[in-house]
Amino acid sequence: MSAQQAAAPPTARLEGVSKIYETAAAKVVALDNLTWQVSAGEAVALMGPSGCGKTTVLNLLGGMDRPSGGDIFVADGNVATMSERALEQYRLRKVGFVFQFFNLIPSLSAIENLELPMLIAGVAADERRSRAERLLETVGLREKGFKRPEELSGGEQQRVAVCIALVNDPPIILADEPTGNLDSANGKIIADLLVDLAKARGKTVIVASHDPRVVEAFPRVYHMRDGAIAAV
Ligand code: ADP
Ligand code: MG
Repeated sequence: MSAQQAAAPPTARLEGVSKIYETAAAKVVALDNLTWQVSAGEAVALMGPSGCGKTTVLNLLGGMDRPSGGDIFVADGNVATMSERALEQYRLRKVGFVFQFFNLIPSLSAIENLELPMLIAGVAADERRSRAERLLETVGLREKGFKRPEELSGGEQQRVAVCIALVNDPPIILADEPTGNLDSANGKIIADLLVDLAKARGKTVIVASHDPRVVEAFPRVYHMRDGAIAAV
């Protein structure tokens, strides 16, 4: 392979992963022997109908849940076998999450919403404030830092949420239907912003979505169906 063609090493690799949800009523096989990898610095969209397993894949990659079988290799080790403590540190420092419903704390201003995860990570007060202001500036919200979520539009709230995902400077950003609650103009802004995190900041960005605006914006798109993933 020539140097030009050589892909960056994988940031995350799922190997023979299965996930079975067991409830009192039924046993659901969400993933069965899934192997998939995402390279460092890539922006990847995972498309597919509701129920195909997108959220399950993101939750496993983010260390929010463990597989029923198989291995998930991330920079810090194997999510399947990592200790609870190591998994907590992995979630806090290596992964940033963006959700469909923005997930901001209503009683806190935008700046305070950004400062909270830095407080948990032990960042000093001055640094928390300056980092929060810098990040809000990059998404055009410097002037709105003291507003509470209800005083911001949906698109603005999601830009704050993207900033929160970035505060501890994690290498991996996971976004689950991040444009699902936005109008088309704001959906495009968020999709472009996420792609730019890979381009301009070298983040590995994985977005689960069935929004055509996301497909258009993302350089690499995978299709997921019944727990299996194929390149588009
Ligand atoms: P998607 O995000 O693509 O809609 P999910 O990963 O949420 O798909 O779900 C995949 C499958 O696993 C679906 O059949 C869903 O009903 C099931 N599932 C997901 N989470 C749970 C859970 N906590 N308990 C039981 N079944 C679940
Ligand atoms: Mg989902």
